[in-house]
Amino acid sequence: MPIYEYRCEDCTRVTSVFVRSASAEVRATCEHCGSSKLTKLISKVARLRTNSDVLEEYGDGGGPEGIRDPRQIGRWVEKRFEEYGMEVPAETREQIARAREGDLPDAVKDV
Ligand SMILES: [Zn+2]
Repeated sequence: MPIYEYRCEDCTRVTSVFVRSASAEVRATCEHCGSSKLTKLISKVARLRTNSDVLEEYGDGGGPEGIRDPRQIGRWVEKRFEEYGMEVPAETREQIARAREGDLPDAVKDV
């Protein structure tokens, strides 16, 4: 059963919505404040935490200067894409996944 994640534009929290089928129309409302101004988030790779978990643990700061924890790597990049409602390119996602496992892209290593 697919799960869609939405970010509320009013309170910025994330709501997960279970849908019965991929073609079913989803009328999601924010589970935190009831707003219907929701932005659909890209679906996450299963092994990653949900957005709300990450935000709760690390806060919503996460600029490029805050990358100490490998799990934070790429978070900022993903956020930018999400804000524009864009899918993170597969290539970029792969780089992020590798970086989180300690294998930084050459461009970063050479600096
Ligand atoms: Zn809300």
